[in-house]
Amino acid sequence: MTETINLKDHIRSIPDFPKPGILFYDISTLLAHAKAWHETIEQMAAALKPHKPDLLAGIESRGFLLAAPLALALGTGFVMLRKKGKLPGITVRHTYALEYGTDTIEIQSDAVEAGKRVVLVDDLLATGGTMAAAVTLLQQVGAVVPAAACIIELTFLEGRKRLPVPVEALLQYD
Ligand code: IMP
Repeated sequence: MTETINLKDHIRSIPDFPKPGILFYDISTLLAHAKAWHETIEQMAAALKPHKPDLLAGIESRGFLLAAPLALALGTGFVMLRKKGKLPGITVRHTYALEYGTDTIEIQSDAVEAGKRVVLVDDLLATGGTMAAAVTLLQQVGAVVPAAACIIELTFLEGRKRLPVPVEALLQYD
């Protein structure tokens, strides 16, 4: 008999991290469970396939954990979107507003050939600020972004409304 896996059973929520009042969804326990992680990659790959990606772009750092095995599963390449100052060579950067202050993400300027279909991948969609910035950066280097994808969507924050592309989310929390 095949055991059915409920992915939510493998995600922990940790109160007051990284700041008081924030409930943090932790995928460490999902990553550590071989069957649940395999199932996560299979489900995400099935959701992304119709978008016909040439490349997947992972957002540092948990997005990397997801985008690298997904790229292997889908037979695509993988590109890194990193925090400022981490990538060698010529980079393109985009700075975006946070609740307090700003943040900057970067990509190597030759990472994506113009016109390639790049699906964006991260672990979690909250307010949508990070993914919106990542879509802008990818478009800036000439990518076509048909979709974005995450394991977890915090629906009450309505992050997908900030995104100019459809979002594939495996699990929703409200
Ligand atoms: P947003 O920009 O508000 O959508 O926040 C999404 C970014 O913050 C993603 O890169 C997530 O990895 C990270 N993040 C926000 N909340 C959580 C959480 O509860 N668990 C894991 N990552 C989170």
